[in-house]
Amino acid sequence: MTKRADVLVLGAGPAALCIVAELVEQGLAVQALASQAPDKPWPNTYGIWAEELEELGMASLLGHRWSKTVSYFGNGLGPAGSVPIEHNFDYGLFDQAELQKSLLLRCGDIGWFVETAQKIQFQGENTEVICSSGKIYTARVVIDASGHRSPFIRRPDHGPVAQQAAYGIVGRFSAPPVENEQFVLMDFRSNHLHKDELKEPPTFLYAMDFGKDVFFVEETSLACSPPLPLAKLKRRLHARLSHRGVYVKEILHEEHCLFPMNLPLPDRNQALLAFGGAASMVHPASGYMVGALLRRAPALAKQLAKAIETEPTLNSASLAKRGWQVLWNPELIQRHRLYQFGLRRLMSFDEARLRSFFATFFRLPKEDWSGFLANTLPLHRLVIVMLRLFSMSPWKVRIGMVFGVQKSLS
Ligand SMILES: Cc1cc2nc3c(=O)[nH]c(=O)nc-3n(C[C@H](O)[C@H](O)[C@H](O)COP(=O)(O)OP(=O)(O)OC[C@H]3O[C@@H](n4cnc5c(N)ncnc54)[C@H](O)[C@@H]3O)c2cc1C
Repeated sequence: MTKRADVLVLGAGPAALCIVAELVEQGLAVQALASQAPDKPWPNTYGIWAEELEELGMASLLGHRWSKTVSYFGNGLGPAGSVPIEHNFDYGLFDQAELQKSLLLRCGDIGWFVETAQKIQFQGENTEVICSSGKIYTARVVIDASGHRSPFIRRPDHGPVAQQAAYGIVGRFSAPPVENEQFVLMDFRSNHLHKDELKEPPTFLYAMDFGKDVFFVEETSLACSPPLPLAKLKRRLHARLSHRGVYVKEILHEEHCLFPMNLPLPDRNQALLAFGGAASMVHPASGYMVGALLRRAPALAKQLAKAIETEPTLNSASLAKRGWQVLWNPELIQRHRLYQFGLRRLMSFDEARLRSFFATFFRLPKEDWSGFLANTLPLHRLVIVMLRLFSMSPWKVRIGMVFGVQKSLS
C-alpha cells in the first residue's frame, strides 16, 4: 500500500496531463498511474482552431498552422460543384511533443507509476485502486482519465454508440492532393462514388499540406453506428484520390481513428470522478476534445482543492459529487443534449442533405460557427444559433432537422 494522495489520476493521455497539471497548480498532493510512461509519445495527431489556443495563451504549441482553410460542400460535378467555401479562420495541429512536454513540466515531480488499474473500491473515506501488479494506491478521490473505454465509469446504456472513424495517410503523392499551404476541413465532393455508394453513410476528406511535398489525407466518417469499417474508408480515400489523378507514392504514417461521439454522460452520483474521454467530453458534433480539456481542467481542479482543503472529513463520494457538479454543470449538460440531438439528426441525413446542411452552417457568422464547434457559446446563444441555422436552411434540411430523414419525404 502506498501513501495516500489527495487525488489519484488514472491515465497519461492529454486528459490526464491537463488535469494533473491543474491539480498540482492548486497545491494538492497528486499521484498518477498509467499503463504507459507519461512521456511516451501519444499516437494521435490533435488538431484545433488556432483561436482556441490563442485565447488560452498557448498558440506557440502549434506545430503547423494554416490560414488557407477551406471546405467543399458541392457534389464535385462541374465547376459549380467544386467551389470551395473559405473559412478565413486559422487552423492548426499541435506539436504533440511540445504539448506533452509543456504539460508534464507543469505536473512537476509527482509520483507517476507505470501500472494498470484493475479494480477500484471505496474503503471508508478513501478510494483504493488495485493494479495488475498487486499494488494498491489510495487517495481521497480518484479521477479516471483512462479514455473512453474505461470499465470503471458507470454510465446509462442508451443503445449503440455512434463512432467517428477515419483512415489517414501522411505521405508523398504523385501530385498534390490539396493546394499548396492549404488545409481542407471537409471535402464532401462525391463525384467519385458510384450511384449505390451515394446511398451509403457519407464520408469526407480531411487534408492538409505539411510542406516539403508531404501531405496528410484522411477519409472520415463523422459519426455512424455501427462505425464505417476502416477497409471501406481506405477504399474510398484511394478512389477519391485516383479520381483526381493522384496516387500515393510513399506512406510515412498511417492513422486509424475510431472513437465514440455520443457516449452517454457518466452517472454523476458515482464516487469516482472522470475527465476526458472517460467523462464523455468529446464534442458530439465535431469529435474534438483537447481545447475543452484545457478550458475545463482549471475549474475542476479549483473545486476539488477548495473541498479537500476546507472540508477534511469529506469522503470520496462527496468529493466526487463536488467535482461532477462542476465538470457537468446543468448548463453544460443542456448544451451537450442539444449537440447530441443535432448529431442524431445529422446521422440520418443522406449525403446531399448533409452537404446542404454544412454549406448553410458555415454561412453563419464566424463567431457563431466557431463557438458552436468549440462549445464555448452560452446555452441561450447556442439556442439562438441553432434557430438561426434552422431559419437559414433549405426546406429539405429543415424537415430533416425536425423529423429526421426516415420520417420525412426525401
Ligand atoms: C486517431 C484520433 C484522432 C483524434 N484527433 C483529435 C483531434 O484532432 N482533436 C481533438 O481535440 N481530439 C481528437 N481526438 C479525440 C480525443 O481528443 C482523443 O481520443 C484523446 O486522445 C482522448 O484523450 P484521453 O486522455 O481522454 O484518453 P487517451 O488519449 O485514450 O489516454 C488514455 C490513457 O489512459 C491509460 N490507461 C488506459 N487504461 C488504463 C488502466 N486500466 N490503467 C492505467 N492506465 C490506463 C492509457 O495508457 C493512456 O495513457 C482523436 C482521437 C483519435 C482516436
